[in-house]
Amino acid sequence: MGKRIAIANQKGGVGKTTTAINLAAALAREGRRVLLVDIDPQGNATSGVGVSLEEADRTIYEILVDREAPAQALHTTDVEGLDLLPSDSRLAGAEVELVPVPRREHVLRDTIEPLAGRYHFTLFDCPPSLGLLTLNGLAAADSVLIPIQCEYYALEGLGRLLETVERVKESLNPRLDLEGILLTMFDSRLNLSIQVAEEARHFFGQKVYQTLIPRNVRLGEAPSFGKPVLVYDPHCIGAASYISLAKEILENG
Ligand code: ATP
Ligand code: MG
Repeated sequence: MGKRIAIANQKGGVGKTTTAINLAAALAREGRRVLLVDIDPQGNATSGVGVSLEEADRTIYEILVDREAPAQALHTTDVEGLDLLPSDSRLAGAEVELVPVPRREHVLRDTIEPLAGRYHFTLFDCPPSLGLLTLNGLAAADSVLIPIQCEYYALEGLGRLLETVERVKESLNPRLDLEGILLTMFDSRLNLSIQVAEEARHFFGQKVYQTLIPRNVRLGEAPSFGKPVLVYDPHCIGAASYISLAKEILENG
């Protein structure tokens, strides 16, 4: 049975999508079959692996709202072993359209179940909110990976996120685990980065990955070419850091 990981933080721009794309690509490079599921209406994970919205006539929207079979929306990518369920802006409407639906928090889990079983890893790229889409991601996941940007206010809002994870665990998904906390956009020249890393390790101990994701220009550029950094520039430090994260996750089991 494969592992499902939700990549979530309601704070915007902390590196969720960068992590989803590049961890997915790195796990695929390690020989695992990986499904990347874009559940953010912004569709950044979709365009970030080179799937254009014109190409994607069916997306996670049809799967969640019209209950179409997930295989209809499946796309392969340039990375062998990595497939994508794309998103598009209509998904923003799903936050509202799903409200009257029975088991509304479980729609993602129920609908992608037949597909997810075929992969070693399924990664959900969540939007920057704690709304119904993120709740669906948490309800469908075995664990949640939380990226934290090494910046001012990095830990602010984390309490609310962890409370939400606890609530989901109690009411929707008892097996939900904290996969780990990932420090992103780390800059070793900045005291602030070092302080945030120390503070995170103080609060979360072993749950913080040893792997730090550095601030790296190549990581920032890759999405505009529709490529994971492992394809765009396989030898850059950003690529190496996501390969190291993938290995750490595989070792943790
Ligand atoms: P949102 O909350 O809007 O979904 P997000 O949490 O998914 O954002 P990203 O889109 O991954 O965050 O990253 C925000 C911006 O920072 C993007 O422009 C991305 O390319 C850039 N970025 C992310 N990680 C790094 C990094 N390690 N080094 C340099 N730039 C980065
Ligand atoms: Mg994102």
